[in-house]
Amino acid sequence: MKIPMLDLSEQYKTLREDILGVLDEVMTSSQFILGSNVKKLESSIAEYCNVKHGVGVANGSDALHISLMACGVKEGDEVITTPFTFFATAGAIARCNATPVFVDIDPVTFNIDANQIEDKITAKTKAIIPVHLYGQMADMTKINEIAKAHNLYVIEDAAQAIGATHRGHHVGELGDTATLSFFPTKNLGAYGDAGMVVTNNDDLMEKMRVIRVHGSKPKYHHHVLGYNSRIDEMQAAILNVKFPHLDEWGKKRRKIASRYTEMLTGKVAGQLITPVESKDSYHVFHQYTIRVEKRDELQNHLKENGISTMIYYPVPLHLQPVFSDLGYKEGDFPQTEKAVKEAISLPMFPELKEEQQQYVVDSIVKFFQ
Ligand SMILES: *Cc1c(COP(=O)(O)O)cnc(C)c1O
Repeated sequence: MKIPMLDLSEQYKTLREDILGVLDEVMTSSQFILGSNVKKLESSIAEYCNVKHGVGVANGSDALHISLMACGVKEGDEVITTPFTFFATAGAIARCNATPVFVDIDPVTFNIDANQIEDKITAKTKAIIPVHLYGQMADMTKINEIAKAHNLYVIEDAAQAIGATHRGHHVGELGDTATLSFFPTKNLGAYGDAGMVVTNNDDLMEKMRVIRVHGSKPKYHHHVLGYNSRIDEMQAAILNVKFPHLDEWGKKRRKIASRYTEMLTGKVAGQLITPVESKDSYHVFHQYTIRVEKRDELQNHLKENGISTMIYYPVPLHLQPVFSDLGYKEGDFPQTEKAVKEAISLPMFPELKEEQQQYVVDSIVKFFQ
């Protein structure tokens, strides 16, 4: 049996007619940039997240960058985030010429350890970017308490977590902004690059709308420096077709996750650690990530058995060569460095079948025998 990490083709089969239909409409209308599909997507996603505004941008990385720009983050400022995330989180900070300041993770959730944030706050700190890794929100209650006490912005990197909640609140409800990615592999994936910022803040929304069109307002008059970062009509049209299915796909992901946990717990207890959903969380399982000491050996064994897995992420951001100037060294973030060696994500997508899961689990059990 061959089991991919992710298979988008099954989903396309069920949506093909609708998607081809809306693409034809876009091309027939010849309205390609910031038209009715983008408007519709912005309002449906904002409503879904229970916030006032959605601002469609070119991708999730720009959603972070534009959020930081709208918050006025600039050279000399510091922004606190986690080193256990995709590069874009810290890349966006550096693109503002600000300094990423890392804080270690909570080993249970893999998210930033809110208890360690306050130690890193200085007079230069402007914002905190918690990342809701693997589909589970960070401890937004604690993070917001700290942000409030120190007058900091909170930008939620929710690229992996649309649909997740913390104490019943969606991404974007608790932060100043939340950034979404519609990269094809994300829980709500476009057929190309796309992203969005959601926010309740009218002022930030207005700034972000201007930044994404070169700072142009009124048209051809530029008071701030922006750039070109828009979600295009074709991607928005595709996402409008996919969006109504998001919750049902999320439920399937959760079912697959609990099945994995059930199957693994009985058989290889003590050999590996399955994901933990915190009591405050509704986890949408963008990834199902386990911890194993002999991680690389397990990955090779699964590969030999036709099973794809992924390591998110093999190098922590504080040890990335591009950030060597920041002066971090091995040993600075023990929990992150341990997770980097132990975390492995198993095949996860809504269409994954029970017998495929059984094969994955059987192969894992065989490895430990
Ligand atoms: C995917 C991702 C991004 C970047 O999104 P793009 O749309 O690929 O630019 C940012 N942060 C995290 C945590 C991600 O997983």
